This record gives sequence, C-alpha cells and structure tokens, in this order.
Amino acid sequence: MPVNPTRPTPPRRAAPVEPEAVYWAEHAWVGGTVEPGTVIETAGGRITAVRTGAPTPPDGAEPLRGLTLPGLANAHSHAFHRALRGTAQIGSGTFWTWRRVMYSVADRLTPESYSALARAVYAEMALAGITCVGEFHYLHHAPGGTPYDDPNAMGHALIAAAADAGIRITLLDTCYLASGLLDERRGKALDRHQLRFGDGTAAAWAERIDALAPAGDHARVGAAIHSVRAVPAAELGTVAEWARGRGAPLHVHLSEQPAENDACLAVHGRTPTRLLADHGVLGPDTTAVHATHLTDADTALLGGTRTRVCVCPTTERDLADGIGPAVDLMHAGSPLCLGSDSHAVIDLFEEARALELNERLRSRTRGHWTAAQLLRFAGESGHAALGWPEAGRLEAGWLADFTTIALDTVRTAGPPPRLAAQTAVFAATGADVRHTVVGGRHVVRDGVHRSVPDVPAALADAIQQGVSR
Ligand SMILES: [Zn+2]
Repeated sequence: MPVNPTRPTPPRRAAPVEPEAVYWAEHAWVGGTVEPGTVIETAGGRITAVRTGAPTPPDGAEPLRGLTLPGLANAHSHAFHRALRGTAQIGSGTFWTWRRVMYSVADRLTPESYSALARAVYAEMALAGITCVGEFHYLHHAPGGTPYDDPNAMGHALIAAAADAGIRITLLDTCYLASGLLDERRGKALDRHQLRFGDGTAAAWAERIDALAPAGDHARVGAAIHSVRAVPAAELGTVAEWARGRGAPLHVHLSEQPAENDACLAVHGRTPTRLLADHGVLGPDTTAVHATHLTDADTALLGGTRTRVCVCPTTERDLADGIGPAVDLMHAGSPLCLGSDSHAVIDLFEEARALELNERLRSRTRGHWTAAQLLRFAGESGHAALGWPEAGRLEAGWLADFTTIALDTVRTAGPPPRLAAQTAVFAATGADVRHTVVGGRHVVRDGVHRSVPDVPAALADAIQQGVSR
C-alpha cells in the first residue's frame, strides 16, 4: 500500500468547469493585496476561478463578510498536549519539569480516548482558521510498549479525528528510540513513560509506518525524528532514507534546549545541526522545529541546505526556551513556518504576531517581517512544509481551503479595509474567525463548527473523562 496514495501535485491551472460552490468574499487576500469584492468558484475541492471587482455577491454565491485568507497551516502539533492547558502553567520549573507532567497525560491515553481528544482539538483548530495540521506523533503503543492489534491504531485514530473535524492532516509518524545519548552509536534505554513511543529500531519503525494507509484524501503521511536525543546517530539515515524514498516531508525537533546541544557535543563532538547534516537529514523537504539555540555555522548549514524551520513562539515562551535566530535563518535561506506545538493557545495569528514582536523585544527595532510575510508563514509556507504544495493561495488550481476573519469585532473594527492584513496579524485572534472552508466545503460557518457543534464541551469531556481520571 503506498504511503501517500495522493502524491502532492503542484498547483495547476484548472480547466473551465462548472462550479460546485461559489463564494463571495467581501475582502480577500489575493496576490499579496486586499481585494474588495472577490468571487471564488470551487469544484472538486479546488478553486476553479477567482474574480475580483464584484461589489455585491452574484446570485447563488455564499457571502463571506470580513477578510478571507488562504487556510492556515499549523505545522507543529502534539494533540494530546492540549490536555495540559492551564495545569502546565502552575508554579515554576523548566521544559524538563513540564515534560514530566506531559508524560503523566500520555500514560493514560487509549486509541479511543485519544481519538475523542484529537477530534475536539482539531475542531478548535478549525474554529481558529486552521485548515491543515502537522501532527508530530510519537504515542504509538500501549502502556509498557506493547503494540496494539493494529500497530498503527493511534495514528489511524488521529487521521480519523482530523476527518471528523473537517481539516487536513499530515501525520508525521515519529521515530523515538532512546531516552538520551549514551555513546556515538547507542542511546540510553527508554524510561517507563517512554516505552509507548518506541519501536526498538528505525528499521522496525519503517516497517510499522509502511503499513499505515491513510483513509481519505484529507490525510498524508510524513516522517519525523523526535530529536538527536531520541534517535541514535546510527539510526538517523534510515529515517531520512524512508522519507526521501517516498517524497514525504521529514520533521525533527532541533536544539530547543541548550542541554540537547551540550549532550550532543559531549558524545559526538558536533552540534545537533551538524550531526543531522552528516547523516543526510537536512534539505528542502526537511523541517527543523524550534531551532532555538544555534551557532552561526548551524544557521548557515540550515539555510544553505534550504531546510525549513518551524517556529512555535507561544510554546517557546511558555516553556522558557528562548528566542531563536529566525531572522538570520530566513536570510540564510530557510523558509519559515509556524506551529502551536504544545497548544498553550491555538491561534496562528498570535504565533505570527509573536514571531515579529519577540524579535522587536530582542533587537529593539521594528518591522522585521511584513504582514504579508507573516501570513505566508502561517499559510502557504506551512502547507509546503507538510507536503501540501498545492494549498495556501487564493488562486485557480489551488485547493479550496480558506478562512474568513470578521472585521467588525472589538479587536478588528476601525482600521480601513485596505489595512486588513495588518489588522489580522497585529490585532485579530482566532476568536475573530467566522468561516473556515476546506476542499470547497464549509467546516465552520458563522463561528460554529458544523460537525462538532459544541467544541468547548467536546474538549472538556475528552480531557476530563479520557485523560484526567
Ligand atoms: Zn514539539
């Protein structure tokens, strides 16, 4: 069974075709400008025509009041971390104390309870304008590490949850073999919490993931290396080769913490970035997540190989990780994208805003990225990192995935519509999203999720019943 039955195809100009659904955007983000009165025709899940200069909705068109943007891509998610919201913010501590709390949640999840939790989390994402999620998935096996009857039961539960919530998913099935670095070839044994994550060897990981067949055209499969802490150097090449051989995206947590750098230098005599480069992991189909604590040589290596970088500002600030060199990475050649990671909040507008504002605090200068660039990081660039190169623009031939933010809320009212992109990035929140359309179909209409009508209740039930007991 092929892993990606629908291989990514580049955007194509659609042949003239009878539209199945027609939308009229009061304002739309087209080609980097705000266009008033834009008709978007869709068929077969794609945009078939975009016409600007339509002051009123044509007959039969569904009006979208506000600013319609290409759908947002959340390029880095661990769905179960949503159960930690609030509880993880108690008291002091570091990334490492937070991780102990996170493991206690992971210990309790089953395919059934994880499916319910992820469905609610992905519905929350749809309400925030997210049309595609990259799920960095390592909770593979039953407690103790015993495989389920279907060894991909957890992965299939996540793919089904995304379908229920109406969004696309790239399941980044994650290789996680060790609890830390032991010597140049071997890692330390997994601790009792981590046994659920492990497949033993990268070859066994590859065998399991080869049997993972996504049901539905909303899902694709990619690979992930949890980190250089969790995958011994001798196993890195196997994961990279698996991804390259299938044209699948490959993601990796990189240098989120100085302790990871110190351990890697002590054992391998080189930085995590250099180690990944030496084992063929870096390149334009690879996304390094965080990339917070880098040397100048690391930055040059990532940029020079066109490796993508996913920044997760709300998580990085929540966990006191630090601020990475995103400006330097971009100038070195790394395309940037954004993720909500631990889901302290799920709001890509806030992630985009935080990227720029963090840099302002550090540099005490303003204007590192334009609103147009930040919107691209939150949309088109994230989709490309997740293996959906045909999503992220309001253009004929691209996937009919878009979201509309209201321009008449307490946060967004006032500025002229021509500045709506700036309003979106610097003032809007996910709560201003009114509509989300995926594959030409409304998933969120007038702020209400159509298949999960009470998302707060679904979240509360899933967290309280499935996880907290
Ligand atoms: Zn992560």
